[in-house]
Amino acid sequence: MSTLTVEDKKIILDSIRDIHDFPKHGIVFKDITTLLSTPHAFDTLMTHLSDRYQSYDLDYIAGIDARGFIFGSILADRLGLGFVPVRKKGKLPYTTVAEKYSLEYGFDEVEIHIDAFGEKEKPNVLLIDDLIATGGTAKAAANLIDKVGANCVEACFIMELAFLKGREGFNAPVYSVISLD
Ligand code: AMP
Repeated sequence: MSTLTVEDKKIILDSIRDIHDFPKHGIVFKDITTLLSTPHAFDTLMTHLSDRYQSYDLDYIAGIDARGFIFGSILADRLGLGFVPVRKKGKLPYTTVAEKYSLEYGFDEVEIHIDAFGEKEKPNVLLIDDLIATGGTAKAAANLIDKVGANCVEACFIMELAFLKGREGFNAPVYSVISLD
């Protein structure tokens, strides 16, 4: 299993930009567009993830709308696996299964295609997104993987806002490349 060196972690962390008060006052938004536009940092991250997951017995990578699509599809390609999008409500064209989750005010909903993981019985799926905050989005996505008959082997995040305790109560192991206190 691959572990990141302190230097590699710093390369990745330094490439992510903090935007204060976006999308609203009091939020520090972790902007990964600057990671994507820094080839050495992006490659350091993707090489770490492909090293880590090549020994897992995975069938698919599922990425969460929208930044999870970027990391998930590149990782799927590097590992020779299929990629499956978990999308916000109303975006997927075929028959879907949906899962609601709570936000600070109100709720949101994510969907997956009912046949997303093909014919194999209980395929192994890695779930990926850029960031876990409260964990509501990723837990809903993991429930969807379960609902369509697949096995969420692990949930992977580039960043974790550990003080929000999003990993608590997750029904799969959680891995974050960078955990922020
Ligand atoms: P949550 O459901 O609270 O874990 O929120 C996770 C989702 O919201 C992920 O798709 C993140 O991309 C996004 N998100 C939440 N907080 C932040 C933040 N501080 N910076 C960037 N993205 C965030």
